[in-house]
Amino acid sequence: LLVTGARALAKPPAVIGQKLHDVATPALLLDADAFERNCETLKSAVALTGVRARPHMKAHKSGALAKRQLELLDVHAAGVCAQTVSELEAAVDAGVGDVLLTNEVVGADKIERVAAAAKKSSGRVGVLIDDFWAQATDLNLALDDDVIVDAYVEVDVGQRRCGVSPSEAAPLALQISRLKNLRFAGCHCYHGLLQHVPSKAERREAVADVADAVREVRNALSAAGLAEFVITGGGTGTLAADRDSGVFDEVQPGSFCVMDLQYGSIEHEIVFERALEVLTTVLSRPAPNRCVVDAGSKAVDLVAGPPDVEGNRPYRSGGDEHGILDLEAGDDLAVGAKLRLYPSHCDPCVNLHDHWILHRGGVVVDVLAVDARGSGC
Ligand code: PLP
Ligand code: MN
Repeated sequence: LLVTGARALAKPPAVIGQKLHDVATPALLLDADAFERNCETLKSAVALTGVRARPHMKAHKSGALAKRQLELLDVHAAGVCAQTVSELEAAVDAGVGDVLLTNEVVGADKIERVAAAAKKSSGRVGVLIDDFWAQATDLNLALDDDVIVDAYVEVDVGQRRCGVSPSEAAPLALQISRLKNLRFAGCHCYHGLLQHVPSKAERREAVADVADAVREVRNALSAAGLAEFVITGGGTGTLAADRDSGVFDEVQPGSFCVMDLQYGSIEHEIVFERALEVLTTVLSRPAPNRCVVDAGSKAVDLVAGPPDVEGNRPYRSGGDEHGILDLEAGDDLAVGAKLRLYPSHCDPCVNLHDHWILHRGGVVVDVLAVDARGSGC
């Protein structure tokens, strides 16, 4: 036993064939039809453009769903993105052939895990680098002789988070290309602050500035004699603009497959459906104008705002395990009733749950582990 006090993971809240109404709550629901339609929509959005999709699994944190996305996207998928080593491991274990960890990997433990995942993978594993001596050389040393990891140079295209400047990308790529066990695969050019710009025209304008930076990178790489590289980046919000920019080889939308209220409130050029809900039970009806449900801040992330509630009942926080709904006169909601909540932000909400409950037509069709659940390790 590695962890003192560890017990078997909580019993799954549902079994296949069960009616949704009988599922133990709070439960993370995935409308499997809507999820599949969202993948089809992404596929049609990139088909015929030459741009490939690399869906980001940070939204669902499930190796099985990552694999399913690739099957649905077919030849239009480049692979998937992971944001944590656990996501990378979950994807490799599920048999995903090309996984790009869109983060720098620092520390002996994580480097060892990336090296082990790369050895285990039947395809490719990639990571981001923005510092040759502090990141690239350690990873290169940790890899077995016969294992090659794809190194993508992270370029800061305006977010001012990680990444080298566009002019530093080619020199770093050249340094990396001399390492024995790293292959310079391309550049990661992601601007997270643009994803939720409400106006699609303003988002397009902002992506045009990103595209100028990416073009500078492309030209510098070519001038340095690095002919084969991939430019990858973007998310659900900038998807159409990235695709049309002419400078991206891959796009990385994550939230598109489940969606959330934050994404529901901006203008879209490509429309995805809500597929994620949290199922909750009415625990108490202490007053005619108030009821209490069993989904508090441990079941539905509240940082980006309260969830929408089935029947337009306003939700306010009742603490960690409770939510309070203020009811209108005449609302006959009874103790034991089940309600669906639609979360404000998918990624942190999913991360609160151990299981995905997939359903079609009101019936559970699959129960999947959120196998990469965790804070970031
Ligand atoms: N790519 C990277 C590097 C990200 O960090 C994210 C989200 O944070 C995404 C893609 C996916 O973005 P979205 O969920 O907005 O589609
Ligand atoms: Mn997010």
